[in-house]
Amino acid sequence: MCSAGGPIDVEFTEQIQGKSCVCKDCENKFKSIGKKIRCPSCGSDHVVVLE
Ligand SMILES: [Zn+2]
Repeated sequence: MCSAGGPIDVEFTEQIQGKSCVCKDCENKFKSIGKKIRCPSCGSDHVVVLE
């Protein structure tokens, strides 16, 4: 195992940010990734994904 210390993939950070989502129950805006999105504020799955 030799660690070359290569450059970190900066491009990944944009993808990790996820999609903009809005909770329909509490109107909380957040970013999330994945298929089952839940509002981090109230835990509702009434979430709309903004493009
Ligand atoms: Zn909510």
